[in-house]
Amino acid sequence: MAGQIIDGVAAARKVRAELKTRVETLKRRGVQPGLAAVLVGDSPASQLYVRNKSRACDEVGLHAEVHRFPADVGERAVLECIRELNANPRIHGILVQLPLPRHFDTQTVVQAVAVDKDVDGFNWCNLGALLGGTCRFAPCTPSGVMRLLDENSIAIAGTNAVVVGRSVIVGRPMAMMLLARDATVSICTSKTRNLDEYTRLADILVVATGRPGLITAPMVKAGAAVIDVGITRTAEGRFAGDIDFDGVRGKAAYLTPVPGGVGPMTVAMLLANTVKAAERFASAAVPR
Ligand code: NDP
Repeated sequence: MAGQIIDGVAAARKVRAELKTRVETLKRRGVQPGLAAVLVGDSPASQLYVRNKSRACDEVGLHAEVHRFPADVGERAVLECIRELNANPRIHGILVQLPLPRHFDTQTVVQAVAVDKDVDGFNWCNLGALLGGTCRFAPCTPSGVMRLLDENSIAIAGTNAVVVGRSVIVGRPMAMMLLARDATVSICTSKTRNLDEYTRLADILVVATGRPGLITAPMVKAGAAVIDVGITRTAEGRFAGDIDFDGVRGKAAYLTPVPGGVGPMTVAMLLANTVKAAERFASAAVPR
């Protein structure tokens, strides 16, 4: 029997509807949550991502602004912009659209975002807090995956979870979040020997490598929940995930599609973090 497709579009719509109510409450208190995006260069992919995020902000009632810089801008100008945004009371969340051009030190720029406006959850303080289980802003993609698991009532505690990919923005925080929910977690990388020996043990398999079709049906445990984070644009211009969708669907109990799985949830969780930041701001500004 074919596995159930996890509908990230519908789950993201539900998150946005919940957020709309919270935004209305905030507006009644005189606070409109504001998200600022910093966009350097003219990569069509980055422009598309920022456009999608701005559109999602409009839908939920968030103020959104984009600070654009040419690809050859110096790092100092971008850092100055971030400093101003850090001090701007209308802005509660700041995102730096990645990747930055090669002449940038990405971490210098990303770490310049104030911890309490770091709605991407990439600041070392927020990532470090994740280790301790007290995270203020968790990175959006793994947060979105956790929400998808919960929305589909997929048990986490006591399961074997395998995360393929160890990037700081997806794989590592993903593993920490699963661990915090009492899964037994393995992390696999490009150096892992016999990857299939790990993936076949997984009750929950999260794959974030950017290698289209890396995971095939024989690598998946029957009845597993399989989450495809990868998204790669093929030469034909379509989007491909890391998982052989058609093959794995016959074996997994749950499977996310690409597109329409994790991607929409990433944007929804960015909005959720921004609303959370604005709520914290409102609580601090108005003594109760
Ligand atoms: P990175 O390139 O930073 O990391 C990729 C990871 O995959 C690395 O840890 C790498 O291992 C591992 N890897 C590569 N090849 C293999 C292999 N053959 N076997 C096992 N592990 C492998 O990518 P990101 O984490 O930033 O993104 C991963 C994918 O997720 C990309 O397709 C990206 O576009 C997508 N993505 C999607 C999002 C969404 O919202 N849907 C959001 C963010 C990312 P090693 O460390 O050893 O090099």
